[in-house]
Order: sequence, then C-alpha cells, then structure tokens
Amino acid sequence: MQHLYLHVPFCTRRCSYCDFSIAVRKRIPAREYVDAVLQELRRVLTDPGRPPADSDHGLETIYLGGGTPSRLPGEAIASLLTSLREVFSVTSFRDELEVTLEANPEDVTRDAATTWRRAGINRVSLGAQSFDDRALQWMHRSHDAARIGAAVRTLRAAGIDNISLDLIFALPAELARDWGRDLERALALLPAHLSLYGLTVEERTPLARWISRGAASPPDDERYAEEYLLAHSRLAACGYEFYEVSNAARQGCRSRHNSAYWSGRPYAGLGPAAHSFDGAARRWNLPAWEAYRRAVAAGRSPVAFQETLSDEQRELERVYLALRTDAGLPLASLSRPLPSATVRWLERGWAEVRDERLVCRPEGWLRLDALVRDLTDRLTTS
Ligand code: SF4
Repeated sequence: MQHLYLHVPFCTRRCSYCDFSIAVRKRIPAREYVDAVLQELRRVLTDPGRPPADSDHGLETIYLGGGTPSRLPGEAIASLLTSLREVFSVTSFRDELEVTLEANPEDVTRDAATTWRRAGINRVSLGAQSFDDRALQWMHRSHDAARIGAAVRTLRAAGIDNISLDLIFALPAELARDWGRDLERALALLPAHLSLYGLTVEERTPLARWISRGAASPPDDERYAEEYLLAHSRLAACGYEFYEVSNAARQGCRSRHNSAYWSGRPYAGLGPAAHSFDGAARRWNLPAWEAYRRAVAAGRSPVAFQETLSDEQRELERVYLALRTDAGLPLASLSRPLPSATVRWLERGWAEVRDERLVCRPEGWLRLDALVRDLTDRLTTS
C-alpha cells in the first residue's frame, strides 16, 4: 500500500455549491470515526487477496480529505495517525512521507496546528475559495477573508510550510467578484501550491435551486474561460507550474498523493464514500456516514460497489488522466498520421508536442473532454 486516503465526512454546514457525501454535525463523533476507519483498515490488510503490509516502507502518502477533516479534534487526528503507525509497525513516519490534511481556515488555531504537526501532518490544503467576504457568504462558507491569511501564518509558525490554497473561479457575474484581485491576494501569501476549481452546478444543491428560480445566473462559459486563462498567466508569471488541469505548484511542491491518482497508480481509501483502486478494479464505500459506521461495527464490508475495468475503460482512463497532466500522452500510443482533429488542435495552439508527447496547453485543458473523445476513437493499443 503506497497511497492511503481517509475520507472524513463531517462539515459544519453545507456550502451552496457542494453535493459531496457529507455529514453535517455540530458534535463530531470523533472516537466513533477513528474506531471505524481503523477497523476498516484492519479488514483491508487482512484481506486474503492482498499481500501482507507490515511496515510503512511502501507507504508514500496519506491524505485526510473530506468533508472537513479539520473538524476532527486535533487529539483525534493525532490518535488516528498514531494508530496508523502501530498498524504499519513503525515508530515514526519517515520525513519524506507526505501527510496532507484538508482544513478550513476557521479551524486553524495555534493549538490545532501544533498538534497536527506533532502528529505528522506536513502538508495542509486550505479551503480558502475567495478573499471576498460577500462571495464567501454567498458560498455559505464559515470563514471570512481575514481568516485565510491568519491560518497561513499560524500553520507556518507551527512548522507546516507546505500549504495549498483552494480557490473557486467563475462565480456568477452579479456577485461582482474580482478574480484578479483574489489571485493577487492568494499569491501574496506565497503558497506552495494552488488548486483552482471552476464553479459547477450540481443537482440538489442550494445553487441549483437558486438558478432554477432565477435568484442566481447560470454558468457562463466565457467568464469561466477568461478567469481560467487569467489564472494561468498570473501564476506562470509568479513561478508556478500548472502540472494538472486544476493544480499549480512551485517547483518541488506538487501534490504527490494526487499525482498518484493522475498517473493511474493504486490507492486505498477508507471511510464513507472513499474510493480504492488496486490497478485493475475500483471499489467505493457506502456514502452515508451512519450506514458506513453500522456496516463496519457489524463486521460487514462497507464496500457499496466494485467494478473491474474493461480494456476499453482502462484505455479511456489512461488517455484522460495523461492529458489532464503536463506529462501528456506518448505520441507512440497514437495512430499515425495523427488524426486530423488532433492536427487542428496543434495548429490552433490548444496542444503541443513536447518530448514526443502530446501535451495540452491551457486552451486545450478548457476543451479536454472534446480532445479525449476525439482520441479515444482512434487510439492504437500501445
Ligand atoms: S466544507 Fe467542503 S465538503 Fe463541506 S460542505 Fe463545504 S465544500 Fe462541501
């Protein structure tokens, strides 16, 4: 096991755009959560179908995502990581192990950050989303802009320098959110990494309801493209590399955990709604916290669904994942001559050939689905 994901489903309230599988709780059932995921881990490790894992020598990354993992008390996070060390029979995690915690700015206190660092957290992905208080309120976020800078300073003071900021772009025009100003505010904090997501409208969210009754504008593709391209030019000017369609990093600060997903490597996921992939089959857990907890407590598997990927699915996924990143797709896996649609992409500057690989430019990443559709009709088996 090299990459371990733990899904922590708890949130204070639901953000206006979010359709994730979460559990809104005032009181976080921390002990129950820690017990459940550790029980699931023991079940996974004793599965007769997998090789024994008695040390962390193979373990490269741990990622606590959500939900809002920072809603767990610091002691629960420390206890969880201590138990993981016991399960993997090591006294301490090696420094080079990447251990990420997703956190909301309002949860970053001096005590919490110190506890996280002592527990082994060495990377924090901070849900900033915007530096505009009006936009934050509209999103139903539970922090204001001032908390973001304070959280970054607190994390650094506790010894956590590897900080990523999440930002959302393409907000409705009526909010008059200044995306360029938000980028400058984020860059001024000198984060190691930035994740930028365009607002999407998911069914059964407050945002979808607002749009259906005319209280918010529907998505605007032009605004989306403009803001996405502005982010590319501003971040490039400040030394960040976009290494994936939504992620940019300073040199040496790419997310190793997420990079494993994008390069098709196996990973194990624990917790409600967590996904796992063993290189051939993908499975995902029961999404609702209570159903997951009851299954694990009763000694039943929490896996809700499992599928073995067909050759066609694997090929589609390989192309899609490769083109999402700056690694691109080897030309050797494409039929020659190149499909005429792909040649048009190259002529228009939406993609380029770099070191014998087809790599998207920002304009291509905006149209990624179309390129993948075109290529997967014509791929030769490599
Ligand atoms: S904090 Fe994150 S997971 Fe929770 S509701 Fe908001 S966007 Fe969704």
